[in-house]
Amino acid sequence: MSHRKPGRLFFANPGPTNIPDSILRAMDHATVDFMGGDFLEVYDDAVAGLKRILFTEGEVFLYTASGHGAWEATIQNLFSPGDHILMPDAGYFSRTWGTMARQYGLEVEMPGTDWRRGPDVARIAERLASDKFHNIKAVCIVHNETSTGVALSMPEVRAAIDATNHPALLLADTISSFGSFEVRMADWGIDAVVGGSQKGLMLPAGLAFTAVSTKALEAHQHAKLSRYYFDWTKMLARRHRSFVGTVPVGPFYGLRESIRLIEAEGIEQVWHRHHRLAEATRRAVSIWSGNQGVSFFCTDPKRRSDSVTAVKMPDGHDAEAVRKIAYDRFNVSLGAGLEPLGGQLFRIGHMGDLNEPMLLGTLGVVEMSLRLARVPLARGGVDAAIDYLATA
Ligand SMILES: *Cc1c(COP(=O)(O)O)cnc(C)c1O
Repeated sequence: MSHRKPGRLFFANPGPTNIPDSILRAMDHATVDFMGGDFLEVYDDAVAGLKRILFTEGEVFLYTASGHGAWEATIQNLFSPGDHILMPDAGYFSRTWGTMARQYGLEVEMPGTDWRRGPDVARIAERLASDKFHNIKAVCIVHNETSTGVALSMPEVRAAIDATNHPALLLADTISSFGSFEVRMADWGIDAVVGGSQKGLMLPAGLAFTAVSTKALEAHQHAKLSRYYFDWTKMLARRHRSFVGTVPVGPFYGLRESIRLIEAEGIEQVWHRHHRLAEATRRAVSIWSGNQGVSFFCTDPKRRSDSVTAVKMPDGHDAEAVRKIAYDRFNVSLGAGLEPLGGQLFRIGHMGDLNEPMLLGTLGVVEMSLRLARVPLARGGVDAAIDYLATA
């Protein structure tokens, strides 16, 4: 029996994402001297472009790592042992980042939240207002909780901090929002933006970064956690202002091409496209939720993410069975529920290099797979997505 799966794999995970052909071509490059003039031009172009689409003129430290490495570097460079930080526990990613910070000896306050809604911003403000001696050094927020499909408003969080006149730094994990929907680092007063390559930037995993404000660089001067390879001070002394060792050249040929693609489309148009495709996905899920079918994991319509939709199974049905049918029979890869939500939901990634036919293909296969797995639903979700896309 043949196991060949004809046609293309439709990769609909919420990261990593599809890599455009022109990025694959750009990265297919022989070794060059990373201190040589030709490469420096590519490097400087790529970094300048990254700053443009982050809307910052501050320093950006880049790492040969996935997102976890950027989390780790950010903690090491900003804090001292025993520092107190506030990290609402709103899903797999905020919980993991908080757990990592604890491992570094920080005192991490992780107030529980309703994972289906995300943090209550008023409670963050109350907590800061009660911190009379300004012990809290930072508020850490996952902008888009990829595990739950809940996206927060960073300006709301900024306003809550400002309303209390609290000097805490504001850190944002934008790994699954940056490059897909609006992130404006300077305007929004974010002190450290953590990002990665394999989601909105449409690159392979392996390049991650922290963009920092002047205030964060100042905090770095007093931060005493041990560090070496990820030390921002060491990085600043190097020509590339990043990378204590060899600079990986391939990712920068890719990053420069990624920025070129984003700017050729227009960053605001990229955000608009993500919103449109996300809205089409939401139209489909809304229909499927009839007959006590699948539903939105995120219960707050205003917080439903423009880069990922988490689809909750009706009680007694296993999301893994649906994912398996989609993958084995139709060559469509959907995102799984992450701990402790395994089996309870699947996630449709609509981020990165994506257009209407790719999304409709995925939605069609989701509808077929739900039916084949005998999950209750109301039919017609794909029609609703088509109606929306044809008229919006
Ligand atoms: C993907 C992701 C990460 C983790 O990144 P890795 O590249 O897998 O290390 C962190 N935070 C968020 C919000 C993510 O979506």
